[in-house]
Amino acid sequence: MVNILDGLNSMPWVSLGRLPNGWVIELAQIPPRDKFKYSYDLWSNGLAFEAFGIARTYKATIRAAGYGDGLWLLNFDTQGRLLNASYTGARWGPFEISAPTQDFSLLAYPRYRPEIHRLIGGTWLRAKWIDKYESSHLTYRLEIVEAQDALYQAAMRTLDDFVRALSAMNTQQNDPLTERLLDAFRKLPLRTHTELDAEAARFHEILGISGHIPVEPPELALDHYHAIPLKVQDGCGGLCTFCSLYGRKIRIAPVELVFRQIDLMAEYLGEELDHFTKVALLQGDALVVPPETLARELEYAREKFALSSSSAFAHAFAKATTVARAPVPQLVNLKKRGLLHVNLGLESGCQDVLNLVKKGQELSEFHGAVSALCEAGIGVSVNIILGVGGLKFKERHVQETVEFVRSLPSAVTVFYSPLQIASTSYYVRNQESSFGRLSDSDMIEQENVFQRELGAYKYLFVPI
Ligand code: SF4
Repeated sequence: MVNILDGLNSMPWVSLGRLPNGWVIELAQIPPRDKFKYSYDLWSNGLAFEAFGIARTYKATIRAAGYGDGLWLLNFDTQGRLLNASYTGARWGPFEISAPTQDFSLLAYPRYRPEIHRLIGGTWLRAKWIDKYESSHLTYRLEIVEAQDALYQAAMRTLDDFVRALSAMNTQQNDPLTERLLDAFRKLPLRTHTELDAEAARFHEILGISGHIPVEPPELALDHYHAIPLKVQDGCGGLCTFCSLYGRKIRIAPVELVFRQIDLMAEYLGEELDHFTKVALLQGDALVVPPETLARELEYAREKFALSSSSAFAHAFAKATTVARAPVPQLVNLKKRGLLHVNLGLESGCQDVLNLVKKGQELSEFHGAVSALCEAGIGVSVNIILGVGGLKFKERHVQETVEFVRSLPSAVTVFYSPLQIASTSYYVRNQESSFGRLSDSDMIEQENVFQRELGAYKYLFVPI
């Protein structure tokens, strides 16, 4: 019988004492927890993500007097993958570990503990909630951790040494609790740094994606740790001149392949399925999949991923032109089968800008698509691109976008992201010169207007 406990960190820590290499290690294990009850504990504490392996987490602290001046906290999942690493201290062997300054308020966090978190696809993030001075509004900030980052390098070195040290510990422990915990850690397939990279490659192979998932629906930014990606189609079919996210051509994945992905993903996650509550349907226009097929895929995912039988769980990117072709009852059926939320790229509320960047979208059609989704009870978010249309459309882009978004149902969430364009793109070669480039202060001004007038959130592109 599974014993489900209330309260985080309710299990005791046990010390392994001093190891031959001088390290002092303590271990703890959070037992299985009810994912539907606890998956948001992480966010409600508002400070850190250390407990995000909510179903079960294997925790270790490490000290090494003389080698480092602080304390490591490492969390592993049930598959022996390192989920996050934090260090309270400034030096570990050859590594100087400073608190990051970019966008992080040290006043809000005077005892900042640098930490990094590993997303399901292997991307490492440094992430925190920040309380802005001017309000009590908490903002989610993050940065992608690069391979040369000192904390990352120190964490990987520590991970490898930890795995080695633990596997070398064969001595029987006198204390039964210590013995039980040590045994639980020994049974984990603890992954070294290189093995973690191999796991990331395995994850992308299941999805048939080379490299990383370029982007996930923005409303999942706070749910990176709880959403299982599933690729139901390739490409987006768009011709937008500024964008190179996907291949242009739409390819719908055969249903058998999607079922196979679901099986392999369930296997990949193993017991970790216990804390996944969402699914992200990839890639650019998931509703292009025939509705009956998509419904079958959703049902299969619901069953295999042990998702709630009563709530919708799937997030998708879609094109408004595709949604506009779906009658409301069809959308209602998709909602019943699991479609929770759709994100649409508005880019601009100025039709002239849309035409010039070849968005292939009429604003009236976009409006109809949003209304139909809302009528079907499906959540909607829309994306705006900061700076699209350059200097030439500086005023019109802002004014007409604000006006258009205000005409949409009020439940719609608005995101914005800065124009990010490949230097080889048509936009750069031909359009930027005719549009004129916006200055940084112009961009900030646009950002402020979208935040102030529409309550828009910044959209963070996190490759996963
Ligand atoms: S903006 Fe959207 S529709 Fe246009 S090319 Fe990019 S992903 Fe495709």
